[in-house]
Amino acid sequence: MISVAIDGPAGAGKSTIARAAAKELGFLYADTGALYRAVACYMMSRVDPADPSAVVPLLDEVSVELKFAEGEQRVFLNGEDVSDRIRTPEVSVHASEVSQIPQVRQFLFSLQQDLAKTNSVVMDGRDIGTVVLPHAEVKIFLTADPEVRARRRFRELTEKGLEVTFEEILADVVKRDDADMHRAVSPLRQAEDAVRVDTTDCSLEESIARVIRVIREKQG
Ligand code: C5P
Repeated sequence: MISVAIDGPAGAGKSTIARAAAKELGFLYADTGALYRAVACYMMSRVDPADPSAVVPLLDEVSVELKFAEGEQRVFLNGEDVSDRIRTPEVSVHASEVSQIPQVRQFLFSLQQDLAKTNSVVMDGRDIGTVVLPHAEVKIFLTADPEVRARRRFRELTEKGLEVTFEEILADVVKRDDADMHRAVSPLRQAEDAVRVDTTDCSLEESIARVIRVIREKQG
């Protein structure tokens, strides 16, 4: 089993790049942000997702599963496929909020580790190389300037038909970066043994090629 951990801030291209690298290598692609988004989805219609004392007791009512069909990940919340519903800016904000709660991180921890025990994976998130898979064979920290990341995310969402403004997305990216980097548990940071890949001036194709090159070099 080989694990590739890809961490980095929102909109750095992690999911697109990790998915492409996984396909090339024949590994499973696991998007761990989807897990936090699914928990947020459950909480946001019931309680304030930023309030640990309201969120933690409700974790007992939540079951989150990842299923894979033809290499594509689908995320299930209490048996319902929520893979599409979790992609809104509103869920992004609440995912960032619930992810700051240690019990939520703990709740999702073994699911992520178990996946890597039974499959060769490319797993992306914020704390994969530092906390979830500290012994991953390959660790990559993928980043880009905030403006560039916001532009990419804006394009992605508007292509899906969502009505958002660039300013809104940039504000969301900056806010989430700040929250993710400064939270008390498992903050977003580059693992000491991670290779930093900055995609600010790279096309998507170049970024994918760079990441695959790093993985192949590490694999020897
Ligand atoms: O990657 P994505 O934007 O889908 O993640 C949504 C949110 O989930 C992030 O802003 C972050 O707060 C949280 N997250 C996390 N740890 C991970 C993956 C995501 O805290 N491994």
